[in-house]
Amino acid sequence: MGPIKFSIEKELEGNPPAGGGRAGVLETPHGVIHTPAFVSVGTKAAVKALTPEQILETGAEVVLANTYHLYLDPGNERVKKFGGLHKFMNWSGPIMTDSGGFQVFSLGAAYGKELSKVVSITDPSQLIAERSLDSEVPRLAKIGADGVSFRSHHDGNLHYITPEKSIEIQHDLGADIIFAFDECTSPTETVAYQEEALERTHRWAEKSLNHHKKLLESRKGPTLTSVQGPALFGIVQGGREENLRKKSAEFIGGLDFDGFGIGGSFAKEDMETAVKWVNEILPKEKPRHLLGIGEPEDLFMGVENGVDLFDCVAPTRNGRGGTLYTSTGKVNITNAEFRDDQRPVDPECSCYVCKNYSRAYLCHLYRAHEMLGGTLGSMHNLYFIINLVKRMRESILAGNFQEYKKGFLSTYLKQS
Ligand SMILES: [Zn+2]
Repeated sequence: MGPIKFSIEKELEGNPPAGGGRAGVLETPHGVIHTPAFVSVGTKAAVKALTPEQILETGAEVVLANTYHLYLDPGNERVKKFGGLHKFMNWSGPIMTDSGGFQVFSLGAAYGKELSKVVSITDPSQLIAERSLDSEVPRLAKIGADGVSFRSHHDGNLHYITPEKSIEIQHDLGADIIFAFDECTSPTETVAYQEEALERTHRWAEKSLNHHKKLLESRKGPTLTSVQGPALFGIVQGGREENLRKKSAEFIGGLDFDGFGIGGSFAKEDMETAVKWVNEILPKEKPRHLLGIGEPEDLFMGVENGVDLFDCVAPTRNGRGGTLYTSTGKVNITNAEFRDDQRPVDPECSCYVCKNYSRAYLCHLYRAHEMLGGTLGSMHNLYFIINLVKRMRESILAGNFQEYKKGFLSTYLKQS
């Protein structure tokens, strides 16, 4: 048995396609994740503005930390000496680390752009010029056949990350689930470039897997026979091209990974087809993670099409800025209209914040630049999104997912 165990409890009612939605249980060495689940993002080994107790209060079962950031600061070796991320950040539940591929992408082709996981393919400011390895366009990362060289956004020092290096860093960090090193591409790039990048991502997936197995082997020692170490997820890329997405799902799905990530930067209108193409091919019995996606309407789409895990910085980023999710859409709580509003942020929400504080108080905290505003806003937003996915799970188990989806979205999308 591998380090994780995934079992499907129930599939969506009706006649679901191979890639249809499901509710499941993912067992890790640090506890169980009930899927579908939203993973809280703790980029630098911290879910911004929240203590581990507050993270738990939001209903979170798992946290995702960032390999690229932790490699640069405080350094993977320092975290390893400390006994790994769980001990370092005092979070005893499951932890995932991403591979750093997305951050390298943001320093490379997308450098200087307003980078987001969801891009508009019709907005000329987001178009990425055709790139080649000897391009003179200023950027902080350069992608080669075997790895990526980049300058630290901290101090400008030069670093080189290969698939092997990324896996080594992640083994040092000590998460329960880690990801293969990949190259994230944007839908605004040429098909020729997407093809080239995909070949590289596939080669890097094999290298990541081989090195991961080697490290696991070396951990066994003379007496241990069970697996000591993280589970490894491979990442499917391929942009908006059907043939590339399918090719990638066939290739990555055919390798001996413990689960899969669906990567890439998406045009909103492409996301559903891409997820469908991929999940109809990926082995059904392994978990799938849609990387970096977390808006309510996208979460419903993902769950319906067989995604088990999601992560996104939006709930905490929005929370720190005062944009709060409610069952009737997002609100900017800093607006003057809320200064005398005695109702909770969302009367339908039963989180710690909504049970104890008014819109007026939150509005005041943000306007007065009190740090507590960001904490309470993040707590509410995380609870809102985590709980939304939990209720999707319950509705799959109860056999009324479609009704729940229609009911939620009809009020949520009304005003936005
Ligand atoms: Zn709330």
